[in-house]
Amino acid sequence: MAFSVDTPVQFIKGVGPKLGDLLKRKGIATIRDLIEFYPRAYEDRRAARSISSLQAGDYVGLRAQIAKVSRIPMGRTGRIIYDISIKDESGLIHCKFFRVPFKGYFDKFTPGTPVRVVGKVILYRNVLEFHHPDLHLLKEEEEAHDEIIPIYSETEGLSSKKLQGMIEAAFTGLGLPKNSAEGLERLPEWLLKKYKLLSFSESVYNLHLPKQGQAQNFLERRTPYHRRIIFDEFFLLEMVLAARKKGLQSFEAPAIRLDADLENRFLKSLPFELTGGQQKVITEIKTDLQKSIPMNRLVQGDVGSGKTMVAFVSSLHVLQSGYQVALMAPTEILAQQHLMTAKKFFEPLGIKVELLSGQLKSAEKAKVLENIKNGTTHFIVGTHALIQEGVEFEDLGLVIVDEQHRFGVEQRGVLRRKGRSPHFLLMTATPIPRSLAMTLYGDLDVSAITELPKGRQPIITRATFQSKRPQVLKFMKDHIDQGRQAYIIFPLVEESEKIDLKSAINEYERLVAELPQYRLGLLHGRMKSEEKDEIMNRFRRHELDILVSTTVIEVGVDVPNANIMWIEHAERFGLSQLHQLRGRVGRGQHKSYCILMMGYANSPESQERVQFLETTNDGFKVAEFDLKLRGAGEFLGVRQSGMAGFKMADLVEDLDVLEEARQAAFELLEKDPKLSNRDHQNLKLQIHAKQMNLG
Ligand code: ADP
Ligand code: MG
Repeated sequence: MAFSVDTPVQFIKGVGPKLGDLLKRKGIATIRDLIEFYPRAYEDRRAARSISSLQAGDYVGLRAQIAKVSRIPMGRTGRIIYDISIKDESGLIHCKFFRVPFKGYFDKFTPGTPVRVVGKVILYRNVLEFHHPDLHLLKEEEEAHDEIIPIYSETEGLSSKKLQGMIEAAFTGLGLPKNSAEGLERLPEWLLKKYKLLSFSESVYNLHLPKQGQAQNFLERRTPYHRRIIFDEFFLLEMVLAARKKGLQSFEAPAIRLDADLENRFLKSLPFELTGGQQKVITEIKTDLQKSIPMNRLVQGDVGSGKTMVAFVSSLHVLQSGYQVALMAPTEILAQQHLMTAKKFFEPLGIKVELLSGQLKSAEKAKVLENIKNGTTHFIVGTHALIQEGVEFEDLGLVIVDEQHRFGVEQRGVLRRKGRSPHFLLMTATPIPRSLAMTLYGDLDVSAITELPKGRQPIITRATFQSKRPQVLKFMKDHIDQGRQAYIIFPLVEESEKIDLKSAINEYERLVAELPQYRLGLLHGRMKSEEKDEIMNRFRRHELDILVSTTVIEVGVDVPNANIMWIEHAERFGLSQLHQLRGRVGRGQHKSYCILMMGYANSPESQERVQFLETTNDGFKVAEFDLKLRGAGEFLGVRQSGMAGFKMADLVEDLDVLEEARQAAFELLEKDPKLSNRDHQNLKLQIHAKQMNLG
């Protein structure tokens, strides 16, 4: 029987309604779904490998026996890690699962059962292990002669073998590999040529029925067939994002005249030189500002990389061209801090800086609003509420959004009027791996400040336990006696916020009693903003030695004299959040320390997770690790997790292909903005479907 890509799978010989239902539950309804159900890995049958011969980075398949199955609960998160150790004559290795592949997956593995393991060997904290390998019960009769065999993610009642049989039948029905099935190819010929991509049908065929002689490439997902499919998946998403971006560019923005002279004078007045990273990003911003289409640029830079100065230097040109600049911060504390810095740098140049704050008395507020409207005030600092209140500007040229990477398209829309839009500069220290930034913020251009100012000493991080509290306390006291300041942070977890807050306050009182010789302050989210500002300002002026706080100080706070960050219950924070908190120290010339105090009842895994921070100060490494550990879905949060919907592409591993796909998407839209060309019809339908999915 001849199939089309839309034929239901039931029509394949031997499938029938029952198996059809099972397949449907796996999301396989049509022939197309079936052939896009790619092997999850390949097993290497060329040579038997022993556990002792494994090296980090190897993709291997090997035979072994289950030694032990452990279920490890991770702290209070309720998450379970499965640790399955396997052995052969030569040694033992652990297989870790941070997610359960399917319900009951682990039930069949009991000590002594022979298994086949396929996966990548990872070196983690000096130990070799597998993360999420494929584990298969080994059956006596399975003795194939193939070099490599595809392995599918299995479900109860649906083995890899059975799946492969069905897929072969589907190929035959489609007339592959001889003919190229109608409707299978989405990409136009010219694009395949330009990006050196194989046809879709040739690629899927070879992925399911791998040829001899390419075993290693298959094991490493490095064949042209893989590349083609990964490209496809990224390309569709990037097309949607590229279309969005084109929409944004239909607005007109003020083309800024650069003033190199002013910039030079300003830079000379600074007590430091800009880093290469800062200069590079400023150049990128200036290029955007000169155009009459709105800039939409996200600047990523690790905590302490000096994003504020990048924003200020960029602002100079906009201000000098006669336009206003608005700088928005997520909290009042941060807005206050920006106000102080902006005044210091801009007022000597005759630029009027004002704060629009929710705390202003109504008469003061009316005055500020009036100044913004008639253009007396040039540089306006406020919280994100600034845009929600319908503030009228005389002529707004640039909006800077600090520490808010989720500042959405809609929010930016509020500030556009009658076909006109200001330029947007978004700054974040939440280190999102580049691949995610490109997918999530495909409508933004992304710049990264990749270095920290010279002379910064790396922060020394130590994870430790309550039993070491006396030593930690002494360590902190020694530093305070030398004139330094310290933060002590307590977590507030939403569901138990009241209890947590109470314990933070109790701990504060205990510390006050314990350290009568020092000046302590308490900061938490339930305090009024004036109280928070007051405490923060006293800490800044060094009228306090120790600031006990919940995570309200997480972003942006800059007190260079503070060099100790002590975090209680570190295991209850996310890694990226811990990294942010750590970034509050190491901002001056003093050697700085981050102490991660863990609770008693704590799993080895959550310890390992926290201890990872001892190994690096690089926010991007932390984020990548977090991404690997939690998977893209959780990293992004629920809403975005469905967004990617990749079957093969991997945001961590396939960055190079992502970049090509992105370039290709923009190129296609440039050529054929409405996709009206006949060769692009198939694509248009797919993109439309994807748009519906993304919402
Ligand atoms: P972040 O990127 O985390 O927002 P900030 O802009 O708050 O960082 O800068 C952190 C500190 O580094 C500030 O005190 C700032 O004055 C200082 N700084 C910025 N750029 C440089 C530089 N090129 N050299 C030295 N110090 C710098
Ligand atoms: Mg900042």
